[in-house]
Amino acid sequence: MKLVPTETDELFRARLRTFLRENHPGSRPRSAAERRSWQKAWLATLYDAGFAGPSWPHEYGGMDLPFARQVIYQEEYQRARVPGPLGTGLGIAAPTIIKYGTDEQKQRWLAPMLRGDTVWAQGYSEPDAGSDLAALRTTAKRVGDRYMVNGQKVWNTHADHADLLFTLVRTGTQESRQKGISYLIIDAHAPGVTVRPLRDLTGGTHFSEIFFDDVEVSVEDRVGAENDGWKLARTSLGHERAAGAMNQAALYRRVLDELVELARERGIASDPLVRDRLADFEVRVRIMRYTGMRTISDILQKGEPGPASSTSRLFISTFEQDLHEFAVDMLGAHSLLTRDDPGALQRGRWIGGFLSTRASTIGAGTAEIQRNIIAEQVLGLPHDPAMPPR
Ligand SMILES: Cc1cc2nc3c(=O)[nH]c(=O)nc-3n(C[C@H](O)[C@H](O)[C@H](O)COP(=O)(O)OP(=O)(O)OC[C@H]3O[C@@H](n4cnc5c(N)ncnc54)[C@H](O)[C@@H]3O)c2cc1C
Repeated sequence: MKLVPTETDELFRARLRTFLRENHPGSRPRSAAERRSWQKAWLATLYDAGFAGPSWPHEYGGMDLPFARQVIYQEEYQRARVPGPLGTGLGIAAPTIIKYGTDEQKQRWLAPMLRGDTVWAQGYSEPDAGSDLAALRTTAKRVGDRYMVNGQKVWNTHADHADLLFTLVRTGTQESRQKGISYLIIDAHAPGVTVRPLRDLTGGTHFSEIFFDDVEVSVEDRVGAENDGWKLARTSLGHERAAGAMNQAALYRRVLDELVELARERGIASDPLVRDRLADFEVRVRIMRYTGMRTISDILQKGEPGPASSTSRLFISTFEQDLHEFAVDMLGAHSLLTRDDPGALQRGRWIGGFLSTRASTIGAGTAEIQRNIIAEQVLGLPHDPAMPPR
């Protein structure tokens, strides 16, 4: 695929670059609460200026950009080092609501999510339902025009400061597996919802567990038909795996350039072993860019990223682990100091990345599950008997 920027695209790039530079919100606050306000203010600035939601329809506040400009948008966004989205709604729940939601739901939920006024978190996984998501047990019993929700979710990223939870719940029998699941949006502040943050390897609390104890949810907050949530889950999982493919490619373009610069500064850039690894990462970063472009193009043409999004997810998650492992090896003991240590190299970013990317091959479906999807749905190999029938 050859990307030939037109003059208009380049003018768009210049306008966006100027906006991002002139409105940059300054450095990232250290405390989590201040960081969230800083991020919210930034998202509102972007939205109000018409620079939010590159792939979203205009009617929900998005930019509805054509292919080449979505690529430019992601490149400039990463280049500018401005804050990313809050919560996990934008890349996962939003495309699902855009596809399956009613007009009223779209009006009610989408623009506030894009502007950062509401933060969304995903409630799919449970203690006994991760890779085998169709085993989930959180129930939603219909009582008139309401559901009564009971159960537990786990590993829910950003749920500790979420306003709304997009969840999968069981409205059919346990035996009905994926045929008895519905897609419900639950108010995270409703009576009966308890969110407990979980501490991870990095020392942070990026995810939580959520308990539902007789939580009342209106049927108007169900997206799609009752018991038809699996179809929506597949759409949203596809988008989750594809989410940010281009944005990650643009991010790692910058990160690799910074690592090469650091190797030069430390006088190790001429070491043949270092050069060999850096060349390998250079090749992979370029492949990532093309894969990201292919994902955007698939979404524009087919409306869904499809199973090939697993290829992109697997590629990026293994890349970021390898890159950070190499960085820590290359930079030596000094790089092991964490951000709170005054002697930390670049505020501990390399060890921070090394620790946080351990989870990359688990979140959004493990690497093994991505390989299964690629084998079956991309390459056409036989179905894994351990997984629910498709
Ligand atoms: C950083 C991070 C963020 C997350 N954020 C969210 C979130 O916001 N919301 C949410 O709902 N969930 C979230 N999760 C949960 C994530 O989706 C699950 O952890 C993941 O699906 C795996 O499920 P599990 O942990 O139950 O492991 P299991 O499914 O129990 O898997 C255990 C091991 O068995 C392997 N395995 C299982 N089945 C198969 C098979 N059929 N073939 C081959 N190998 C198999 C797995 O690959 C894995 O190595 C997050 C996880 C992480 C790490």
